[in-house]
Amino acid sequence: MSFETLGLHPKLLQVVTELGYEQPTDVQVQAIPLALVGDDVMAGAQTGTGKTAAFALPILQRLMTLPPLVEQGAPQQGAKIRALVITPTRELAQQVFDSFIAYGKYSDLKVAVAYGGTSMNVQIKALRAGVDILIATPGRLLDHVFVGNVSLANVETFVLDEADRMLDMGFIIDINRIMKRMPAKRQTLFFSATFSKQVKKLAFSILTDPKMVEV
Ligand code: AMP
Repeated sequence: MSFETLGLHPKLLQVVTELGYEQPTDVQVQAIPLALVGDDVMAGAQTGTGKTAAFALPILQRLMTLPPLVEQGAPQQGAKIRALVITPTRELAQQVFDSFIAYGKYSDLKVAVAYGGTSMNVQIKALRAGVDILIATPGRLLDHVFVGNVSLANVETFVLDEADRMLDMGFIIDINRIMKRMPAKRQTLFFSATFSKQVKKLAFSILTDPKMVEV
């Protein structure tokens, strides 16, 4: 299997070639074609399997090639982002952000990261400049949403990364608050290393007709 066969855009093929990725990993082979056509995906994948590229590449491609959605429902204030990735930790948010920057090298898409423990002002400046893709931890994301720095009303694709750790860290209330701000009609990509009863319950409450990916 090659990255070409997965249907990736030439600008993304160029990047993976430059990064020296010879072939897609299992999770990439399974998830990329599903995510590219807009399906919801529920994926069981650990860190180190290439899961970040499995969601980042199709998100970049869809945002590069599809027109933005028109806002549904009541208008919300703030930067109108098209893709949102939430992660349980600051370190993971930074890593996912670095990956989007690397993979999006030949796109015009703007990527930002927001997590606690760092200045709100630097993040506000980035948000005001316009952002297509935001990577964030739940608490800091909500801080920005509640004061009107970010609007989730135009989110086309939402990624919940490391959902099991997110639940272990007690983020369920924050996740539910975030979900309420997003359009019902959106693509959701759900990644977790393990699938306990609680993780499955969360998955089925936020996914629509998901396709399963297991590696
Ligand atoms: P992740 O599981 O997303 O944390 O990725 C683990 C590591 O694998 C990262 O350093 C990626 O740069 C690398 N990686 C992702 N996809 C591939 C691939 N298809 N071939 C080689 N390395 C990859």
